[in-house]
Amino acid sequence: MIRALPHIEAMAPYALADNDHGGPDKPVLMAQNESVRPPSPAAVEAAQRVLRSGALYPDPDWTDLRRALSDLHDIDAAGILCGNGSLDLIAALARAYAGPGRAVLAPAHAYPFFATAAKLAGARFDTAPEAPHGVCVTELLRAVRDDTQVVFVANPGNPTGTRIPTEALRELREGLRDDILLIIDEAYGEFANGPDKGCWNLTEAGDCVVLRTFSKAYGLAGYRAGWGLFPPGVAAEVRKVLNPNNLAAVSQAAAEAAVSDQAYMRETCALTARARDRWSGKLAGAGFDVVPGCTNFLVVRFGDAITAAEADAFLRSSGVFVRRQHGAGLPEALRWTLAADAEMARAFGALMSWKEQRDG
Ligand SMILES: *Cc1c(COP(=O)(O)O)cnc(C)c1O
Repeated sequence: MIRALPHIEAMAPYALADNDHGGPDKPVLMAQNESVRPPSPAAVEAAQRVLRSGALYPDPDWTDLRRALSDLHDIDAAGILCGNGSLDLIAALARAYAGPGRAVLAPAHAYPFFATAAKLAGARFDTAPEAPHGVCVTELLRAVRDDTQVVFVANPGNPTGTRIPTEALRELREGLRDDILLIIDEAYGEFANGPDKGCWNLTEAGDCVVLRTFSKAYGLAGYRAGWGLFPPGVAAEVRKVLNPNNLAAVSQAAAEAAVSDQAYMRETCALTARARDRWSGKLAGAGFDVVPGCTNFLVVRFGDAITAAEADAFLRSSGVFVRRQHGAGLPEALRWTLAADAEMARAFGALMSWKEQRDG
């Protein structure tokens, strides 16, 4: 009998959003934190320009994209690696630094792919409790074991939406043993920090990686482009693990053009923030427990997991797809990607109908 490795057979497939809708109506898709609007027209045009060169392999070193990122953020291009989405980089980091006999640590309500990457690598995955307001540095440091080699935190967190102050990240890094790699996933960094702050200088000591993506604020989720700033030693090892030619030429071109159109990206962040304020206010006004965070999604907490599941089922039957969060240890929560007003209104209306039906 053909058998996969035991640790692979023991794993469940990674759970992406279930957007399967039976009905004829156009559904409202709010389950994957996709952008409130399409990508920059400059990015689409750049992608179109390279379509005809499709017989050629892409630049394996992502030269132009790295240069654009290096100029924008004032960081060294040599420390930048690009991935087929940042998930590619998360998985490669876990493969290079975690494995049998090693453990990966993350906060209790961390992004579920951290656990998947750890288990794929054959490593143990540990979690540390979070405080009500988000990641707790003291708890993370307390949860470090002798075999801990990698610590993942998302900042801001998904699905928590909460931010870890840079000072707390520095404290975390200083409190970790120096043979532990700290990976800070800033998938929502543009929403929270603006384009050019971030904690790049934490990578200087050689024991910290900062990851970003084009999937959220740049609206390029379908192009699969992620990147990160790596210390030289870590970059050299992770490059060995990444598939060569991992980022398609169209994706490199679109991402580079998107970097060059900062005005568009900033406007996306502003539109998103406006939707966040408006709809978190409406939800709170209607009596819902809403965590607005600082990203492109809202978290609505229900009394318990059963109520959240009932609300989710009602929304689905109304063509509104949000995301349950049991995978992140928050079964009482639903995560809503912020969308254009018409879609938000439809989703809000459906939630109000559920509430009216439940309250009789
Ligand atoms: C969306 C997201 C990613 C992203 O993924 P890509 O592979 O770049 O699309 C990574 N980390 C977090 C926390 C996310 O929410």
